[in-house]
Amino acid sequence: MRKPFVAGNWKMHGSKASIESLVDGLNAQAGQIENVDMAVCPPAIYIDFVQSSLTGGKIAVGAQNIAEEPVQGAFTGETSVEMIKDLGCAYVILGHSERRAIYGETDAQVASKVKVALDAGVTPILCVGETLEERESGVMEKVIATQIDAVVDVVGIEAFEKIVIAYEPVWAIGTGKTASPEQAQEVHAFIRGKLAGLNAVVADKVIIQYGGSVKPDNAAELFAQADIDGGLIGGASLNADDFMAICKAA
Ligand code: 13P
Repeated sequence: MRKPFVAGNWKMHGSKASIESLVDGLNAQAGQIENVDMAVCPPAIYIDFVQSSLTGGKIAVGAQNIAEEPVQGAFTGETSVEMIKDLGCAYVILGHSERRAIYGETDAQVASKVKVALDAGVTPILCVGETLEERESGVMEKVIATQIDAVVDVVGIEAFEKIVIAYEPVWAIGTGKTASPEQAQEVHAFIRGKLAGLNAVVADKVIIQYGGSVKPDNAAELFAQADIDGGLIGGASLNADDFMAICKAA
């Protein structure tokens, strides 16, 4: 049995004041959630503040990105895996479509960051997903397979026991257009089946989150699908009531 995992990707949102009130809301409600792993991924500059404000030990903290370079050095503006680990991060989101599309991160760079995270003992949340154009032109499975293969080539299939995959169709991110439970399940089953072709035991264990306009009112039917093991939540994770309702649905 896979334990569901719901993580909030706060993206580039928040201030000390807004984060304080969000974390207060999470602290007030997190104790009610059982049998769900939970995490929030604030902007790097607020990780320490969030980590020291969370109480109760139920919600882990993650980062949204790390540098490809594993050690410290002359890399102005970058954050190393050792730094996020030093601040208590258990997770790091890697290969988010915004990083791929806006900052030009390639499959190879994402794969090397996944290795850097694994080597440091930080769990990568590896995001994969197709654009609308790729879905409509019939190359969706090829795109997702290529994104995953790039990582398998670098870290090997066994490492996927320690990797969380987030399937995020790009057309569903921040658009209010959620994939239907059936559409999402189809891709999740494809991903798990692809991994099973390499190692069935690992494929059965790997957590595959769905991300893309998950809200309290659509979370339960998405999470009820056989191969959907929780979610990676953007907009709705900025509201404590909504995020907790989504966690409860997992
Ligand atoms: P939304 O939930 O705002 O669509 O964002 C999804 C996402 O990109 C999470 O990483």
